[in-house]
Formats: sequence, C-alpha cells, structure tokens
Amino acid sequence: MNDELVILGSGGGRHHIRTQYRATGGILYKFNGTQAHIDPGPGAIVRINQYKEDPTKTELFIVTHMHIDHFNDLCAVIEASREQLHDRNYNYLKKGTLITTKEVLTFVPKYHQNMLEMIIPFTRGDKADFKGVEILGTKVVHSKVEGFGARFNLEDYSIAFSSDTKVFEGFSEQFSGVDILVLNLLRPDSIQCRRHVCTDEVIPYLNKITPPLKGLVTTHYGSYMDSYTSSSNFVPSQIEKLRKKTKITNILGAEDGLKIKISDFL
Ligand SMILES: [Zn+2]
Ligand SMILES: [Zn+2]
Repeated sequence: MNDELVILGSGGGRHHIRTQYRATGGILYKFNGTQAHIDPGPGAIVRINQYKEDPTKTELFIVTHMHIDHFNDLCAVIEASREQLHDRNYNYLKKGTLITTKEVLTFVPKYHQNMLEMIIPFTRGDKADFKGVEILGTKVVHSKVEGFGARFNLEDYSIAFSSDTKVFEGFSEQFSGVDILVLNLLRPDSIQCRRHVCTDEVIPYLNKITPPLKGLVTTHYGSYMDSYTSSSNFVPSQIEKLRKKTKITNILGAEDGLKIKISDFL
C-alpha cells in the first residue's frame, strides 16, 4: 500500500499566515492511487512545488471551513490540477471533486466551480462516496463559520482529519474505529484557546476513543506552539507527553514537507 500524507503546512492561525514561520498549505492525502488536497491555505501551491509534489494529480479538494488558513489557495490548486485549462474552442476541461461547506462555495468564483466535475456541499453528519471510499463529515465546535472534519473509511483502514475544533461531548465517539487521527493541535500543555484544543485538554478525549488509535499525527500548530515569538518549540515536548499519557502506539508531530507513510501506522 502506497497511501501517504504530505504535510504542506504544519502551521495554523493568522500569525503563521503572516510569517510563514510554519507553512500553511494543508495536507496532501494520497490514497487508492488518487490524491486529495485538504485545506489548501496560503502558500499551498508554493509548497506543493517546493516539496516536489505534483499538483496535476489532485482529484479531490476538501475545504473544511471558511477560514483563510484552510481556504486561501483553493482556486489556485484547482487551476493547477490540470495541465490544460481548456481546448481550442475554450471549452473548459472538467476535472476533480470539491467537498466543502455551502458557505465556502459562496466564495468560490463560478469560473472555478465550472472547472470541477463535481461539487458536494458538505457538513457534519454528511456522507459522500469518492471512488468507492466513504467520506463522513465529523462534528467540530470551532467558530461561527460552518465546518466539519473529514473521516475516510477505506477497505484496509480508517483515517480522520479533525479540522479546527474544541473537544466536546461526543468528540471521542465519532472517531470510534478510526486507525489514524490527524489532529489540529494549536496550543501546548494547558494553554487554552477559545476555538481550539490544547494538549492537556485533548488527552482524556484521545483516551476515550475505542479501540485505541494506532496512529496520531498532530499538526496545524499555532504561534504559541512554535513561532518567532514562542518561548520555545513546544512540539517535541507535546509529543513526549502524548506518548506518556495515551495508549496510542505511534505518535508523530507534523513538520513542513514531512511525508508520512500510512502503512507505518498499521
Ligand atoms: Zn485553522
Ligand atoms: Zn479555523
């Protein structure tokens, strides 16, 4: 199995948008011989090229909510997903599927919507079938904008991307049966944030997921976690803490450009 994650940005939030201290390009998820781009934030198209990935392979675009660190480069990666935009008669080639909220769609020009083969308006609780893979919208408690997390149920394994969220009653249950969780972990230790989780807050919820996760990837770090202004890079200490305090076999902290083999977790 060649399924893989490519971290096009381990940063989240407005400070990293501005400084690019950690990149904000989202994640490429390669599965079943296809490629999805999840949350292509600012610089996504730059990072794909920088990390020697191929934007024309992307067939699925997912934007979990209308925040710029998840949405900004969507139109650029849609255009970049084909070598030719149109034929000689200016008939635009239709390619790719976009899964996103109705709210995000109001910000996507018709010009780009028309380049896609399919658009699936999506929210928590929704289900979509993409080339035989079931995709479920998981719940988030984040901000006033509409949002969802994405859970992929494949034949051999299940992987979920939490998106930006706080913990809540039912957080753990929706990841029951998930093998690998990609968790947006904005802040370290007990440094709480109104719209995101910090390490100490999320640990009890990770421990309530049954059966225990095989793999955890933390990403989308905020400026408190690691930036020009943070007192240190807190990522290594958070990974250490998660290893000590959870039963998850394999825990990895995302870094810009990191390529993660799914089979290493299974
Ligand atoms: Zn974010
Ligand atoms: Zn957000």
